[in-house]
Amino acid sequence: MENYLIVECLECNEAFRQQDFHEESPEIFCKCENLEVGIKKNENSTYAFHVAVTYSKSRPRIYELNKKNEEENKK
Ligand SMILES: [Zn+2]
Repeated sequence: MENYLIVECLECNEAFRQQDFHEESPEIFCKCENLEVGIKKNENSTYAFHVAVTYSKSRPRIYELNKKNEEENKK
């Protein structure tokens, strides 16, 4: 599967990709600190971890982007 999970802060427009999250950096804040994105490990699951998003000012936009579409958007 070539889908990315994108979490975008609507306050500062910083966007994180699923690939930005890994076990060595379990918590990431956006520039304006509206969003805190962390990972939670899953046990007994197909996925090793899932992404947990909390926010203080406004809800982030969360969507999936597939790689093919992203490349088309660059044109
Ligand atoms: Zn922000």
